[in-house]
Amino acid sequence: MADTWRDDVRLTDDQRRVRDEIRAICAAFDDGYWRERDAAGEYPHEFVERLGEAGWLGVLVPEAYGGKGYGTEESVAMLGEIAASGAGFSGAQTVHAAVYNSAPLVNHGSEAMKEELLPRVARGEAWIQCFSLTEPETGSDSTAMRTQALREGEEYVVHGEKLWTSRIDVSDYLVLAARTTPREETARKTEGISLFLVDVERGIESGAIELEEIEKTVSGVVSSFRVTYDGLRIPRENLIGEEDRGFYHVLDGLNEERLVIAAECVGLGELAIVRGVAYANEREVFDRRIGANQAIQHPLAAAHSRVQAAKLYTYDAARRTEADRETVGARANTAKYLAAEAAFEAADAAVQTHGGRGVAREYDVERYFREARLTRLVPITQELALNYIGERVLGLPRSY
Ligand SMILES: Cc1cc2nc3c(=O)[nH]c(=O)nc-3n(C[C@H](O)[C@H](O)[C@H](O)COP(=O)(O)OP(=O)(O)OC[C@H]3O[C@@H](n4cnc5c(N)ncnc54)[C@H](O)[C@@H]3O)c2cc1C
Repeated sequence: MADTWRDDVRLTDDQRRVRDEIRAICAAFDDGYWRERDAAGEYPHEFVERLGEAGWLGVLVPEAYGGKGYGTEESVAMLGEIAASGAGFSGAQTVHAAVYNSAPLVNHGSEAMKEELLPRVARGEAWIQCFSLTEPETGSDSTAMRTQALREGEEYVVHGEKLWTSRIDVSDYLVLAARTTPREETARKTEGISLFLVDVERGIESGAIELEEIEKTVSGVVSSFRVTYDGLRIPRENLIGEEDRGFYHVLDGLNEERLVIAAECVGLGELAIVRGVAYANEREVFDRRIGANQAIQHPLAAAHSRVQAAKLYTYDAARRTEADRETVGARANTAKYLAAEAAFEAADAAVQTHGGRGVAREYDVERYFREARLTRLVPITQELALNYIGERVLGLPRSY
């Protein structure tokens, strides 16, 4: 039976167009492609270049700057389909930041910055694949960041350390968050932070950016780094938006981005179920297909139900982002929480269905499982998503 249930959620005409075009591009990159890149720890350059040539890195760039001019609804369809194609969550992550870094530039960049950069992003010529926010000491409490960018004439000079800065090795530019006013001098902890566009090659060549790769067990296709900024000089015109208002500029697009992450989790969950069902239908033990056993069928059916529910919720939330700005945070955190849990359940069921082969690289479900585990940690942990829902939706006391 075909996996027609994957297309059951009703899409707009634009979403359908996006899904079909992305599906066609992804068809050229099979399971073996992703398996080999993951095992070798290699970035999928050919895949990202192909998306870039077709203009998909500029999905959120307005048409006036040469982009596709789409919004959250369409990027949900795009990244969700990439994950479901076999690329998984980490395949989607190879381009996720390239798509989402255009949001602060579009919304807050100067006209000169937009004219210079956005058409190149839209043509796939300039890669802004990296957002450097998390720090070793502060983690989820990101406004407690210590990295400082201090004004010296027409430049800012940056000192500090970031952890988990991903894809800096494949980025022409990165977006950096740093304190321009010390925390003690601001009324709110969300004030005093600014965003900067950083020329990566120049920073590394000058010796002011140093990288140390973090060895990790998941997402081989994306490298993550501890980054030391030691006297990095950034021209004043590379400030994105207003000085000291950078955290608010990030918040502007954060919920939309979280919805897209939820769609990537849904895509991963769908992928795991498709593979689990295929194996359950094919493998015979005790002279019958293992899928005939309810102990195999029910976990797959339960995971399918949860993935479908998460998909409906996520796509509905994406459709309502513009109309219901007040409550978009509640829906984005709920979608991310539901979708990551559903992806984990689906990947776990797929591994169990495969028996011992569930941990063999050649069957891929072990990779989906590692990735599904990661979705419960990034870009925010499930606990932090629940904190938001507890406090901001249910009106419970703030816990931190
Ligand atoms: C593979 C990977 C790629 C990443 N890429 C990037 C990137 O490109 N750029 C970037 O800036 N960051 C990146 N990150 C960082 C990621 O966003 C953080 O790891 C994540 O936000 C959690 O922060 P932390 O690891 O410091 O955990 P911590 O904040 O130290 O939390 C540890 C644990 O304590 C829990 N906890 C903390 N406070 C509370 C509380 N108040 N209530 C309940 N529970 C709490 C957390 O939920 C978690 O379970 C990446 C991380 C990974 C693993």
